[in-house]
Amino acid sequence: AAEKKAVFIIFGGSGDLAHRKLYPALYGLYKAGILKEHFAVIGTARRAWSDNYYRGTVVTSLLDIDDDQEKMQAFAKHFFYQSHDVTDSDHYIALKKLASKLDDQFETDQNRIYYMAIAPRFFGTVAEHINSEGLKTSGYNRLVIEKPFGRSYDSACELNGSLTKTFSENEIYRMDHYLGKQMVQQLTRIRLKNKTFEKSLNNKYVSNVQVTLSESLGVEDRGGYYETAGVLRDMIQNHIMQIIGAVAMDEPAKLDSESIHEVKREVFASLKDLTPDEVDKNFVRGQYGEDITGKQKAYRDEDNVDANSDIETFVAGKVEFDSERWGGVPFYVRSGKRMPAKSSRIDIVYNDAAEEIGIRPNTTVTILIEPEDGSYILVNGIDYLESNQDIIKFPEKEDYFDHAREAYESLMIDILDGNQIHFTMWDELQNAWKYVDIIRQKWDSETPDFPNYESNTMGPDAASELLEKDGNSWVWAD
Ligand code: NAD
Repeated sequence: AAEKKAVFIIFGGSGDLAHRKLYPALYGLYKAGILKEHFAVIGTARRAWSDNYYRGTVVTSLLDIDDDQEKMQAFAKHFFYQSHDVTDSDHYIALKKLASKLDDQFETDQNRIYYMAIAPRFFGTVAEHINSEGLKTSGYNRLVIEKPFGRSYDSACELNGSLTKTFSENEIYRMDHYLGKQMVQQLTRIRLKNKTFEKSLNNKYVSNVQVTLSESLGVEDRGGYYETAGVLRDMIQNHIMQIIGAVAMDEPAKLDSESIHEVKREVFASLKDLTPDEVDKNFVRGQYGEDITGKQKAYRDEDNVDANSDIETFVAGKVEFDSERWGGVPFYVRSGKRMPAKSSRIDIVYNDAAEEIGIRPNTTVTILIEPEDGSYILVNGIDYLESNQDIIKFPEKEDYFDHAREAYESLMIDILDGNQIHFTMWDELQNAWKYVDIIRQKWDSETPDFPNYESNTMGPDAASELLEKDGNSWVWAD
């Protein structure tokens, strides 16, 4: 791969995200030679750290992925620390000076990547200062922004308004790390390569689609954040919506950003309107209680959680599209904490008519997105590559797991390439928020009867009843 040149400015460089995800991802790129000589990273945060101390924390963040001390030290030499308060204009001027000095030193062609690894309430402030203090350069200037992108349609509009004063839509990279996962990316490639599979994806042959993003953990030490979010905002609005978009979108003309976003824009615009009355019929919320042994705490007993909290830790729902292709096919979605296992999967359940295109009766194709080391396609629960399944011919395994990269690494390469293919665009986001807002508003107007599911179970009974009403059932059931 060709070497890329850039100065990264990481706001929140001392934080958890930076150390757990960003530094290991950048190091992966360094080992692959994509980052080599011509890059520098400025970490900024409030604390007063020396470059040396900062480099030490960077190396520490790599210890469980590598033991090549020499390489890690050489990598860390590209890191610089600048203490910074996001609201202080003078600090941006200092930052600008440092970036421009490093630009000369490392010959990075004035390219800048601004990464927001910082609390969401600062996103707008930082972007506006980048503008007012004139940090943008004549190279490229790309802004990377983490979730959450607003907490409602209105607040997302406000946030976007403050970003677009400085960055245009094609300079904004809205990170959804599920879009960096191997199987989610492969889904589109498989669709383009495999005509039978592509031809099968519509209301003629598909009975229903199920998307599950489950976690076995509870809220852990993130109670404070979670109390402001809940699964609907934290998982459904972004990750789940993007995954159903990847299944439901039309076949893109090409595998490029423009073609993908064209079909994605259309699919999100075709989300079937949800009325407040339908919310109760089509969506279920839950909050975990203790497990059967009493060893796992109820959500309301977790640290930094209100003892009467109405925040949901589980959502199941039925999403539909108003389109010729998908009209009448339920997309059942589900996400929750304290479920029996961590799993991210898509189950496509075929109907009997699918036999006419060679798909045997009662076929379910499962795309396992996670756990990471088990990225498989299952046909009726069996690894199709090992079972000589001829129902749907997918490309050979070698073809698509060759270049498996951790999601953040793969997305970081896209950012360096200026490729927005796996990022969320503003129009998609708006439609997803409008949809989710209807559910949120309805739920906020009523007091739920929480907790309503035991830890280590598949969520409240109503989540199974939701499918039973339609004569369907969850493919993954405990
Ligand atoms: P964190 O609390 O660990 O880090 C926050 C960083 O911001 C720290 O470096 C802190 O010093 C800095 N900071 C705080 N106030 C500041 C100020 N006034 N001026 C300058 N710097 C300041 O948080 P995190 O978990 O790393 O999350 C960062 C962002 O990433 C958030 O938007 C979060 O929602 C998002 N995110 C995090 C994860 C994750 O796995 N941690 C996953 C998805 C999204």
